[in-house]
Amino acid sequence: MAASAPKSPKVGIVSLGCPKALVDSERIMTKLRSDGYALSGEYEGADLVVVNTCGFLDTARAESLDAIGEALAENGKVVVTGCLGHEADLIRQTHPNVLAITGPHQYEAVLAAVHEHLPTTHDPKIDLVPESGLRLTPRHFAYLKISEGCNNRCSFCIIPSIRGDLASRPINAVLKEAESLVKAGVKELLVISQDTSAYGLDIKYAESKWKDRMVRAKFYDLAKELGDLGVWVRMHYVYPYPHVDDVIGLMAEGKILPYLDIPFQHASPRVLKNMRRPANQDRVLDRIRAWRKICPDLTIRSSFIVGFPGETEEDFETLLDFIEEAEIDRAGVFKYENVAGAPSRDLPDHVEQEVIDERWERFNEVQTELADARARRMLGQTVDVIIDGWDDEVEAFAARTKADAPEIDGILYVATDRDLDPGDIHAVTITGAEGHELTAKL
Ligand code: SF4
Repeated sequence: MAASAPKSPKVGIVSLGCPKALVDSERIMTKLRSDGYALSGEYEGADLVVVNTCGFLDTARAESLDAIGEALAENGKVVVTGCLGHEADLIRQTHPNVLAITGPHQYEAVLAAVHEHLPTTHDPKIDLVPESGLRLTPRHFAYLKISEGCNNRCSFCIIPSIRGDLASRPINAVLKEAESLVKAGVKELLVISQDTSAYGLDIKYAESKWKDRMVRAKFYDLAKELGDLGVWVRMHYVYPYPHVDDVIGLMAEGKILPYLDIPFQHASPRVLKNMRRPANQDRVLDRIRAWRKICPDLTIRSSFIVGFPGETEEDFETLLDFIEEAEIDRAGVFKYENVAGAPSRDLPDHVEQEVIDERWERFNEVQTELADARARRMLGQTVDVIIDGWDDEVEAFAARTKADAPEIDGILYVATDRDLDPGDIHAVTITGAEGHELTAKL
């Protein structure tokens, strides 16, 4: 009788925070798997748990601390990494029993900590890792991280102090990863970073060899090359710099999705100045109108902060007018939080919590009306959707239009007797619409 293969030690991964953190988790998983570990998305049966934390807002920090506590209670052996890892003292004070704490992108340090506390013997014959790496997102879509860090210094944000200045990946490395993902079955690439339109600035838009030619590490060139891969390509965290105009043409040609995720954060020039936001906000409305002329299907998603220090009722109304006039299709709104270490803490005229709460409600009311009106306009239209999978509760296939990014935007339910596969793209006719939820038939 053949001896059974030794059981690989199992590592549980808990991933909190934004898609950028998710990509970090996937890199850690890929490396752990190739080092011979088995992986699990839960504590049960795991020999050790890695918690990838988020430290962006105080609520995210509290959530991260809770997750570490839960992992300690359920499992006992916990390695902490990610943005909150930057505040090792806080973690140690709250949870003195964690085995190790590492910061964002310290992949080697996380791996070293796992190896130290849970040794393994690697056998390449049984520990094969697919070329595209291991992913936490479903097989048909994947996040593609093009850079780390950020050169901006928005006053409410501590990311540059945690993650450092912009560090762009060479374009041939990004394209190689994208191509491997597509070969592995990915049908939608979601391009992420802290500031996607600034891609390549730090490496002076360096050219590198891709296939038989040289390609520049620049937003436009990246969009064009990714557009040639034949899958949906969605751009996140883009600032309205003038060179973004060129990419709108690629959207009109159908090379990449007509979708831009632009975190405007506000519209009042005074508040934006206090926020120290990048990109010239002058004439943003004119730019958006010009974009829509070139690409009428363009969907704009954005995020906003209400109650920033010094925000007056007039500033807030400027913001509400902006989302209506600019027809911001999708918007996430956050209440201002006094994040530890953020320069905005020291600004005068902090807005009372009650007023922040009330503005948040009002923003959402306007946003909901806009979303409802938009959804009603979709009724009867035939559009392409990507299938995400069967939804047991609704008893229909969950899908998304080109206007909807996974997890943050709307869902469309397709009722059919046919068997549809995740990642398939079908033309459907919209039969019902309510806010961010649509129903359709094939
Ligand atoms: S652009 Fe501003 S908010 Fe975004 S990561 Fe950079 S500093 Fe933070």
